Amino acid sequence: MRFADRMSLLGTETAFEVLVKARALEATGRDVVHLEIGEPDFDTPRHVIEAAKEALDQGYTHYGPSAGLPELREAIAQDVARQRGTTVQASQVVVTPGGKPIMFFVIMALAQPGDEVIYPNPGFPIYESVIRFVGATPVPIPLREDKKFSLDVNELRDLVTERTRLIILNSPQNPTGGILPQADLQAIAEIAVQRGIPVLSDEIYSRMVYDGEFHSITTCDGMQELGIILDGFSKTYAMTGWRLGYGVMPEELAVHVTRLMTNSNSCTSSFSQRAALAALTGPQEPVDAMMAEFRRRRDIFVEGLNTIPGVRCAMPGGAFYAFPNVSQVSRSCKELADYLLQTGGVASLAGVDFGVYGEGYLRFSYANSQANLRKALERIADCVDQLGHR
Ligand code: PLP
Repeated sequence: MRFADRMSLLGTETAFEVLVKARALEATGRDVVHLEIGEPDFDTPRHVIEAAKEALDQGYTHYGPSAGLPELREAIAQDVARQRGTTVQASQVVVTPGGKPIMFFVIMALAQPGDEVIYPNPGFPIYESVIRFVGATPVPIPLREDKKFSLDVNELRDLVTERTRLIILNSPQNPTGGILPQADLQAIAEIAVQRGIPVLSDEIYSRMVYDGEFHSITTCDGMQELGIILDGFSKTYAMTGWRLGYGVMPEELAVHVTRLMTNSNSCTSSFSQRAALAALTGPQEPVDAMMAEFRRRRDIFVEGLNTIPGVRCAMPGGAFYAFPNVSQVSRSCKELADYLLQTGGVASLAGVDFGVYGEGYLRFSYANSQANLRKALERIADCVDQLGHR
């Protein structure tokens, strides 16, 4: 078979590959603590599952509109408006199978060869992958550990050129757990508005903030015409396998994204969308309980990492990831991640899996039990001890 050149431009998400390796090890009888995959280990709330069953019985087993069921788009518009203190119309909402397609569709709709797209690095690997795939040039904006993994706004301003077509932000952030301060969002919005550049704000962890309130750049002055929100149900409601996400964007872009849906998925699963409606309009206690437990785990895990000589970990402000600096350990982060898995039985990801500026770090997802996190800490400490320091 002869493949189109563009296929060589596509990157991947290493988490899925490490998961396969870890499962293969387990099949040989080894015990592995899974801290690699980015999904809540909680069950989908019961009432959401019941709503899906009911929807199946009611016949939500057919195609629906490409942009999503009208009642769900309306509920999303209201929820996004309530959570962020803004106004949103249902016509701005496009429902997709997971949040990821919004990344793909928005980059596809806005960038082409010759264009530049600024994206966070280390960051979710799919941004860079899709930017390359559409033939545009990825321009990384480094996230800085000494700034709690936020970015330097002056550096961002310097990266903007005549060819910048899109700026991608993600807060709370994967893989660092960092949060962009409100003042920075304001300053970035000013740059975007001045230069007329759309901003794709990946807010998939918007409900996973430990201290203070979540802020969306889309609420800043002038962002109504330029702001694009990516959010969804995967993380907030522990629904990764349901494939349910959405974008909120200016109507003129929603038309294009809807057309991309028609050309690819036709629509998002109808009974899943009815379950999503129940998630948004039903009790929110399961979300609060999950976050309370994530906070306890974060404190245990990050504190534990910081007691390991040669390891230093900033306290994540959101999401469920720890991104320790392991540059003092006498191995590259990739080698260390591999050693931790093969020798220590702890599955993690190397910082470089999230871009060049991730060298010297590991990413752990602490979506695992407190007992397993403690077990992992002991194993990590042993491995680091065996490898020694620089
Ligand atoms: N954005 C970020 C930053 C993520 O970490 C993830 C999933 O890990 C997604 C988007 C995609 O979420 P979904 O599973 O809803 O496609």
